[in-house]
Amino acid sequence: MPAVKKRRRAVQSQNLVGEKPPTDYSIWTLAYCQADMPYDFFGGSGLMSNQGTIQIPMLYTVLVGGAQGQKKHVVLVDAGFGNQDWLSRYRFFGWEDPSTVLAKIGLTPADVDTLLVTHLHFDHIGNFSAFPNAHLYIQLDEYMGWLRTLSLPKDFGGGERSWILSSLDPQDIHNVAIAISQDRATLIEGDVEVLPGITAHLAKDSHTFGTQWFEVQTRNGLFAIAGDAVYWYSNIEKMWPPGYNQGNPFNQLFTYEHIRKTLSRELERLIPGHDPLVWQHHRTWTAGPNEVAEVNLAKGQRSRKHRKKNKKAQGHRIKLG
Ligand SMILES: [Zn+2]
Repeated sequence: MPAVKKRRRAVQSQNLVGEKPPTDYSIWTLAYCQADMPYDFFGGSGLMSNQGTIQIPMLYTVLVGGAQGQKKHVVLVDAGFGNQDWLSRYRFFGWEDPSTVLAKIGLTPADVDTLLVTHLHFDHIGNFSAFPNAHLYIQLDEYMGWLRTLSLPKDFGGGERSWILSSLDPQDIHNVAIAISQDRATLIEGDVEVLPGITAHLAKDSHTFGTQWFEVQTRNGLFAIAGDAVYWYSNIEKMWPPGYNQGNPFNQLFTYEHIRKTLSRELERLIPGHDPLVWQHHRTWTAGPNEVAEVNLAKGQRSRKHRKKNKKAQGHRIKLG
């Protein structure tokens, strides 16, 4: 048996628990917007400083599936943002609404029943309200951390353009509180199997107060949907945290170690938060201004790539640097 297949089997067997039915999910990672950002913001201060800017994708990931013989779920990891203020504050372009983006894989925002948000930065929670039937899961530590931040004295630096609010929209905290009161959101604590085959892992005080990443068990082995627990593959390959974070860089390294062990170091099974290289690891096409990566197909699922329509886009790669 080839080495790759052997490793896959090993990765799968780690996650077999009791007599639970096997789980399987299709996985698509979708860009909904692009940005021009400094290299060291993602790749690390020092290591990637003075290298100018790079085009990076803003992403969310769709999981469709569940346990064999049980209800099928449509899960979205992260919600993107929809607020015009943020679009003008940073160098974003090519923004598309969730209806347009999800239509590329034959879904609508109303199809999403579960929203797993990695952390409360605006580009991950901001468009929560665009998914009317979704139940939200975030970590308690994340919610409480930002609630405390918002209650800091005004002279702490809480102005609208401050570092502490450089990625947080106070309105999002308000929206989550309302969702909790209406039983549309759950605050989870630590490592929890949220749906069959989908486990949340808390990376406490890492990128943010309570960032979480998700392990997804499919017939083709495990995948990790990292959100900003891992910005770029290079962070984990070089064990060098990003220039921008709102938590503890050492804890980020511990998270990288946890993720690479979970994936038996097969990093092509990792979906990072903002890495254009994700398009090189998976079958990718471009629709409109943004890319779609077909990461995994569950048994019986057809590819969502329309060959003719996207013929021109085949082989598309974002130019690096
Ligand atoms: Zn982000």
